[in-house]
Amino acid sequence: MADDTTSYDLLEGAGLRPTAIRQRVLSALLSAGRSLSHRDLVELLPGLDRVTIFRSLKLLKEAALVHGVQGVDGTLRFVVNPAERRGCPGGHAHFLCLECGAMTCLLDQELPRVGVPAGAEVRGKQLLVYGICPECAAGKRSKAERARRAPASTGRSRRPRSLG
Ligand SMILES: [Zn+2]
Ligand SMILES: [Zn+2]
Repeated sequence: MADDTTSYDLLEGAGLRPTAIRQRVLSALLSAGRSLSHRDLVELLPGLDRVTIFRSLKLLKEAALVHGVQGVDGTLRFVVNPAERRGCPGGHAHFLCLECGAMTCLLDQELPRVGVPAGAEVRGKQLLVYGICPECAAGKRSKAERARRAPASTGRSRRPRSLG
């Protein structure tokens, strides 16, 4: 599988031992093409226990192969770092869809520099914009259209006022 080769190379390039488990976790994130939470990965990778997956994610994050962003629901979602920004731990804004939970990297929206108190140790920063993604918005629109047409057939039929 092409994904396995990629994840193998990525792990090796980041100085991590490309174990089968790390490859599976990274491959899952690569082929998902979207953000995945720890819970998503547990479901996607049957046979791997949650603690093992958690440890792999932590390692991948420390090696700057993936970055994690916390949604408004408190769930941390992970995305593979873009190839051209490898090593950058997610210095960009994100969009989170409240309907489907998909998180999108807004790579062209860099985070502002924020001054912190002298001596403070920064562990990360995030800027999250949330709402409804285009796919969900489109689905909602068609549902709304259906709902608008539906009452005529499903509602209790009222005898039309006769004009004659
Ligand atoms: Zn959505
Ligand atoms: Zn991102």
